[in-house]
Amino acid sequence: MRTLAIVGSGPAGFYTAEAALKAFGDAVRIDIIDRLPTPYGLIRAGVAPDHQSIKAVSRRYDQVATDPRVRFLGHVSIGTDVSVEELTAIYDDVVLAVGAPLDRPLGVPGEDLPGVIGSAAFVGWYNGHPDFKDLAPPLSAEEAVVVGNGNVAIDCARILAKTVRELQDSDIVNHALDPLSRSAVMRIHVLGRRGPHQASFTLKEVGELGELERATPIVRPGDFPPAESDAALETGQRRVVEVLRRFAAEGPDAAKPVTVSLDFFRRPLRVLGTDRVEGIEVMKTRVDESGQAVDTGETEIIPCGLVVAAIGYRTSAIPGVPFDDKAGRFVNVDGLISPGLWCVGWARRGPSGTIGTNRPDGFALVERIAATESAMGRTGRAGIDALLKARGVTIASFEDWQKIDAMEISRARAGAPREKIVELTELRKVFAD
Ligand code: NAP
Repeated sequence: MRTLAIVGSGPAGFYTAEAALKAFGDAVRIDIIDRLPTPYGLIRAGVAPDHQSIKAVSRRYDQVATDPRVRFLGHVSIGTDVSVEELTAIYDDVVLAVGAPLDRPLGVPGEDLPGVIGSAAFVGWYNGHPDFKDLAPPLSAEEAVVVGNGNVAIDCARILAKTVRELQDSDIVNHALDPLSRSAVMRIHVLGRRGPHQASFTLKEVGELGELERATPIVRPGDFPPAESDAALETGQRRVVEVLRRFAAEGPDAAKPVTVSLDFFRRPLRVLGTDRVEGIEVMKTRVDESGQAVDTGETEIIPCGLVVAAIGYRTSAIPGVPFDDKAGRFVNVDGLISPGLWCVGWARRGPSGTIGTNRPDGFALVERIAATESAMGRTGRAGIDALLKARGVTIASFEDWQKIDAMEISRARAGAPREKIVELTELRKVFAD
C-alpha cells in the first residue's frame, strides 16, 4: 500500500490526488492536509468572485475528496502541528502543493506605507480568506493604482470598478461588498512596465473591461507599435492586442463615470506619502529590442490613496525544505526535492498558468512518483492520526466542509449577507446551536 500526504488542497493538490488514484488504484491511501478547515485553496480564495464558472471546478474535486481512499485533514498546520520531517517519516511520499500565497514585494521606497497592499491580501480580502478579513483597504480617495499587467491586476481593477449590482451576482463576501459599495474610487490606473505586446492579460479578462456597467477602459493610441508588428505575435496575444487597439480607437465611453486606465510603459519608482499612501512616482519606460523595459528618464506622479501590487507571488518557505529565494519556490528537479519529498503546481514551477495547467502538472508528478520505489514500514493514516491526537489537534474533516458548504449556500439563497465560515471554532459553534 502506497501512502501519500499532499500538503495543500488547492487545484495542484487535488489534481495530484486524482492522478494518484488513477495510477495506484486500490493500492494507495491519500491524506490531503490543509492549514484551513476548508479546502480548494485559490479556487475558494483566489479566483475572482465574479468568475463563478471557474470556481465550479471544485465540484470535480469533491469526487476525489469523497473517494474512500482519500481523506481531507483540514485545520492542520505544517510547522506547528506537524513538521515536514515527521510527515516524511509517516508517509511513503509527501507532496507539497502549497501554492504561492505571499506577495512579491515591489522593492521601491514607501512600499510599507499603509494603503500599499499586495494582491494576495487584496484578493484574499474580497474572497473571505480568514487571514485578510480585517484588511480594510483604503477606498476613500478617487484614484487607485494597481501595479502589474497580469490577470490578477485586471481582477483587482475590475472588482474596484464594478457596481454593487454587478458584484451581487458574485460570491463576494459582505465585509468587502459593504466598503466597496461606499468606495470613492473613480479612476483606476493599471501600471504596466512594458507595452501592450508584452502584457500578460488573457482575452476574456481584458475583454471584460469593455463590458462594465459604470466603468470604461482608457488605452492611449500612442502606446502601440506599428500595426504590422502584431502579425509576429502568438495568436492569444494578438487577440489581446486587438482588443486593446479597439479600446484605444473607440476612446473611453463618456457616459461612464469610472475609468480603468491601462497605463503602459510605467514602472513604480517610489510610493509617496508620510503616514499613508498619497501617490506613486513612476518612471516612464520603453521596450528595447530584447523586449526589456528601459527607463526613459522621464517621471510622472499619480496621486492616489490605494496601491495594489499585483506583480506575482512567492511560495512560503518551510523550515528544513530547500528554498530558492530568488525564484520564490522550493528547490526541485522536476518536482523532486529529496527522496520521498516532492512539490507540484506553483510551489514547483512558480506562479504561472491557469487552474487547468495544474492538472498535467499533477499527473506528470505522479508518473515520477510511481517510477520510484515505495518506502518500507511507513505507518500512514494510523501514524498521523496518533501524532495529531497526541498533540490535541482538532481536525476538520471533509464532512465538516460539506456542512460549511451547505450552510454557506443556504445563507446565500436566503439573501443573508454573505460571509464565509472560516474558523473551525465558528463551525463547531454553529453546529452546537
Ligand atoms: P503574471 O501574469 O505573471 O503578471 C505579473 C505582472 O507583474 C507582469 O505584467 C509583470 O511585468 C509585472 N511585474 C512583475 N514585477 C514587476 C515590478 N517589479 N514592477 C512592475 N511590474 C512588475 O502574474 P499574475 O497576474 O499574478 O497571475 C499569476 C497567474 O495566474 C498567471 O498565469 C495568470 O494568468 C493566472 N491567473 C489567471 C486568471 C484567469 O484565468 N482568469 C486570473 C488570475 C490569475 P513583466 O511582464 O514586465 O515582468
